[in-house]
Amino acid sequence: QKAEWQQLVTEATKTADGQHVELGANIGNPEDLEGVLANGAEAIGLYRTEFLYMGRDQMPTEDEQFEAYKKVLEAMGDKPVVIRTLDIGGDKELPYLDMPEELNPFLGFRAIRLCLERQDIFRVQLRALLRASVFGNLKIMFPMVATLDELRQAKAILFEEKDKLLAEGVSVSDSIEVGMMVEIPSTAVIADRFAKEVDFFSIGTNDLIQYTLAADRMNERVSYLYQPYHPAILRLVHTVIQAAHNEGKWVGMCGEMAGDHIAIPILLGLGLDEFSMSASSILPARSQLKGLSAENAKQLAAEVLNFDTADDVEAYVNKQFNK
Ligand code: PEP
Ligand code: MG
Repeated sequence: QKAEWQQLVTEATKTADGQHVELGANIGNPEDLEGVLANGAEAIGLYRTEFLYMGRDQMPTEDEQFEAYKKVLEAMGDKPVVIRTLDIGGDKELPYLDMPEELNPFLGFRAIRLCLERQDIFRVQLRALLRASVFGNLKIMFPMVATLDELRQAKAILFEEKDKLLAEGVSVSDSIEVGMMVEIPSTAVIADRFAKEVDFFSIGTNDLIQYTLAADRMNERVSYLYQPYHPAILRLVHTVIQAAHNEGKWVGMCGEMAGDHIAIPILLGLGLDEFSMSASSILPARSQLKGLSAENAKQLAAEVLNFDTADDVEAYVNKQFNK
């Protein structure tokens, strides 16, 4: 099996009936690039920038950030690199940021909420990203967006910083796509509205599942409720993909679910354009997708959307594909 996977490193990802999907890697650090390249990723679907801010006692400077982003963009050449702006809070804290104690940190002051309030932090990151944009194929993504107002504010700040840089004579790419994570049910439900105002979506199932089923992703006691194949999750994913495609936009997924062998045929059938996962999952996923027919997957997806339970979905996919 290892040898078969090895042969797939340089191949594009194609289904048995010739449909191309993009397989990207999730990274947390420029040091992860080695594994990304060794496993033949076609993109970086999620660069979690919070690790730049963690494990130290002060903010990373604009130049430090610029160097990190540039390194990743250059290493990937013209392949897409989706860099997510700071997603701190929830389970991730910063010692030098005086974060309030919260009763429900996952429902609290985090990610884009924090960035819109602490614009001093946000603007520095955006400037570093914009400056790095000329070194590759950058796509900027906002995390934990819950309302259109947040998206509009974040975009306005981004464009303000871009204008400032241009006025300073700094070059900035004019083809940066701007997108958002869909990881809060409110955004999935009205994805049609969001789709008009972004270039792409990336579905963050790690959070989308916890918020949809109201089951803390870190809490063992309720982990039985953390159900990726729950028909409610599948329907939300379906809604998001339809909404994006209606506006001619692409949709990725960067939660764990994107690399899950039960989920892959369903996601293919729902029309997902990009799957982003840990580098070590890429070759197994490519191998699996090579054996799937996109046409059959479409049929399968239409069926499971009408199932009652996650167990029913799992059993059915197993019966169809993993005999
Ligand atoms: C997600 O929520 O699915 C996601 C990819 O983001 P994170 O795991 O960093 O919250
Ligand atoms: Mg998340």
